[in-house]
Amino acid sequence: MTVFNGKGVYGAVACGKISVFKKRDAAVKRYHIEDAAAEQQRVEKARAAAAEQLRQLYSKALREVGETNAQIFEIHQMMLEDEDYNDSINSIIASQLVNAEYAVALTADNFAEMFSAMDDSYMQARAADVRDISNRIIANLTGAAGESGGVEGKSIICADDLAPSETVSLDKDKVLAFVTAHGSTNSHTAILARSMNIPAVIGVGEEFMAAAEDGAECIVDGFTGEVFLHPDEETKARLAEKQRADEEKKRLLQELKGKEDVTLDGRRVRLYANIGSVDNIGAVLLNDAEGIGLFRSEFLYLENSDYPTEEQQFTAYRRVLESMAGKQVIIRTLDIGADKQVDYFGMKKEENPALGFRAIRICLKRPEIFRTQLRALFRASVYGELGIMFPMITSVSEVEQILAICEDVKAELKAQGIDYSDKIEIGIMIETPAAAVISDRLAPLVDFFSVGTNDLTQYTLACDRQNPDVEQFVDTHHEAVLRLIEMSARNAHEHGAWIGICGELAADTTLTETFLRMGIDELSVSPSFVLKVRDTIRRLDLSK
Ligand code: PEP
Ligand code: MG
Repeated sequence: MTVFNGKGVYGAVACGKISVFKKRDAAVKRYHIEDAAAEQQRVEKARAAAAEQLRQLYSKALREVGETNAQIFEIHQMMLEDEDYNDSINSIIASQLVNAEYAVALTADNFAEMFSAMDDSYMQARAADVRDISNRIIANLTGAAGESGGVEGKSIICADDLAPSETVSLDKDKVLAFVTAHGSTNSHTAILARSMNIPAVIGVGEEFMAAAEDGAECIVDGFTGEVFLHPDEETKARLAEKQRADEEKKRLLQELKGKEDVTLDGRRVRLYANIGSVDNIGAVLLNDAEGIGLFRSEFLYLENSDYPTEEQQFTAYRRVLESMAGKQVIIRTLDIGADKQVDYFGMKKEENPALGFRAIRICLKRPEIFRTQLRALFRASVYGELGIMFPMITSVSEVEQILAICEDVKAELKAQGIDYSDKIEIGIMIETPAAAVISDRLAPLVDFFSVGTNDLTQYTLACDRQNPDVEQFVDTHHEAVLRLIEMSARNAHEHGAWIGICGELAADTTLTETFLRMGIDELSVSPSFVLKVRDTIRRLDLSK
């Protein structure tokens, strides 16, 4: 037995036989041609065929893995149209008088190398995409398009790397697991594996591919990232038990899909999910969350190298709202500063960043940034059920200023004839002890509270959440934190507001009963915890 270690992308165990994924033969020969224009036309024809195949793949992915994940094939279609990419192919043909296949392959190498050299891991992952579209064009040039990757039976697919189109083209019913020698957790292949619920381990190294053979026995542990080649009997028995227990747990939880979040005595709770990116919506839908309770909008700023424009933000918010099809989506306005630093904001270094210039403080001091985000949010509001909430509130005056800016932005949109919904719920996060203590004064100003227990715990217990040395002093069930939540719940209800929890504590099922007894109306947890929390809610009887 040999054990290889990589990164687990989707937690599950698979035992079976290996099928080494055979890429389309992309070994391209270089030869001299006479007629450059004719060769360029061959590329054009192959590119059109590739575009049609990608349209079909997009439709297949849309059905199987949802819109967000399918979008990669739209991106591939756009890459096919990229001017620089096409100019490069055409000029290699014209200047070197070489065949189309060679010009495409050379362009792919150059572009992939350029992407790989970038600092940004997202851009590095795009190298696989440019190779993918290039291989598709080459396959169309050589007439090899449409051939399968050579996978037979239900097996563990092993590859150097899998392109997104290869991943989604595989017949899901024939794949036990994916193992790749390379690949990043940021790649769309990893995202697709996750959303397809297929155990996957990436980055096991080239030694694995050298040892892997068709038909060899293998076990993939997507929890630990271990891959066992020719497993011994003891390992087989141990992993089989792990697989059985995991499948049983997941099977039981799957039965909860479509079920209501209601206690035995009939108390309904809204069970929402937290996301940090538009890409997480697939997981929200897959786990049957009733809505999105926290969309950390700062990801748009963190991923960008400059302030995201109103249009960029509008597109992202609209996509989330449309994907959730009428279910509530609560988007939190920009929460940068402290641990989330963005270079282009040009912020000064601070002694105590957690107590520093962050979140709503930046928005109020730099209203042009805030107004751009609010305009994008209000414009997107007509595409679904939007809630907007504001982070790091400490005073009544902050909320009054925010509401005044919101009214001003709405008036501006109205004057410009731009629509927005009149049903948007406005909320604030309870993340500071100050906000909890004056929650009786804040509640009349808003529709809802959402408790950010991560920060509320940090500020209440005076323990920096970034500092591992003080972790031992953090009691996540500390009475002081629980009392502040209870106080906020009481004050919210007294003033006609509702209250949710969106910090990590919302997924702590040992506290679900405590929260519901406090009157918490909504719990927003990471998508993979939704069914577990639903299970807990449905077993509770609050009448006792
Ligand atoms: C929180 O503080 O609990 C919260 C949900 O916000 P974040 O973790 O993004 O600071
Ligand atoms: Mg917070």
